[in-house]
Amino acid sequence: MPEVRAEAPGRVNLIGEHTDYHEGFVLPCAVPQRCVATLRPRDDRRVRAQSEQIGDEVFEYELGGEQRRDAWVDYVQGLTWVLAKRGIQVGGFDLHLDSDVPLGSGLSSSAALEVATMRALRAAFDLELTDVELARIAQRAEVEFVGAPVGIMDQMAASLAGERAALFLDTRSLEFEQVPLPADLELVVINSGVAHQHAGGDYVTRRRESEEAARLLGVDRLRDVSLDRRLDEINALPSTHARRARHVVTENARVLEARTCLLAGDLKRLGQLFFESHASMRDDYEITVPAVDLLVDLSRRQPGVFGARMTGGGFGGAVVLAVTAGSGADIAANISSKYSNQTGNDGQVLLPRLT
Ligand code: ADP
Ligand code: MG
Repeated sequence: MPEVRAEAPGRVNLIGEHTDYHEGFVLPCAVPQRCVATLRPRDDRRVRAQSEQIGDEVFEYELGGEQRRDAWVDYVQGLTWVLAKRGIQVGGFDLHLDSDVPLGSGLSSSAALEVATMRALRAAFDLELTDVELARIAQRAEVEFVGAPVGIMDQMAASLAGERAALFLDTRSLEFEQVPLPADLELVVINSGVAHQHAGGDYVTRRRESEEAARLLGVDRLRDVSLDRRLDEINALPSTHARRARHVVTENARVLEARTCLLAGDLKRLGQLFFESHASMRDDYEITVPAVDLLVDLSRRQPGVFGARMTGGGFGGAVVLAVTAGSGADIAANISSKYSNQTGNDGQVLLPRLT
């Protein structure tokens, strides 16, 4: 049977962090880095999977015999497990993955892997799945099989976002809109070199704390707390719950305003929102680390930068900067070298891409 090749990009979230599992708003863009999945259907029901990025090991399993192994192949097993649960038929296959989305750096290598693999499966086995359904299956695989209770942003971004428009997504309704980036805006992404793992505990703790805060406020999801009416009520909660809720509620408001800024070309205010979002993640949600805070502080002092913030789930990862178009490469090189001098970390520039 013929081989199929499919790919999916990583993403940089412009703003709207930890809002998706509260059914709020997010604003991600695709990045040029992507995962490429090459898939060859087999005559039997075996799956053999291999990744260019992780070791020489070929993982094998039988469709229907998926079992968590606490290894990257769990993302693939998760997909075939969810497909079976939904009654969608596929046969065995050999899968090869090759990705230049850095792993655990906040650009969502996991969703790029899932969506690239799903696209390859859709093409190879003629599955009638929309791009939104594909994202839903990928998210369910990550939540229910891999065991990382992530929201839907990353998979929707990998499935639907482009590079010169931000995907404004309502994660409750899954309605989305492509918001073009103004021509005078350039995005810069710098990796702190501190890697995180989303299947790890901190993300889970934040999710639980903010869900408790929602219960204390008498709502199902923090999406339902409107900013102007409820800030007093939020501030009256026990301190940790107050901070968690305040981040999600103010962050949702910032996403809505950022969308307006993009449409109006107001990069100054967009930049302020980036800085405010970072402060909220640092002080209220407590998901930044000193290395990432330093990158944002260095950005603040750099001419030509409108704003900067950590992007992605946190506890390491990358920062995104909004800068004047055409100045991205110089600004990134400047900040990255200062960062390396001060920390000894690499400070890899992920955007603009040099190759
Ligand atoms: P992020 O999605 O932000 O990069 P995650 O912790 O959610 O971070 O996902 C990273 C994990 O995804 C890796 O530890 C690995 O298991 C898996 N992964 C991503 N890309 C690949 C790849 N190219 N090959 C194998 N596994 C990958
Ligand atoms: Mg991920």
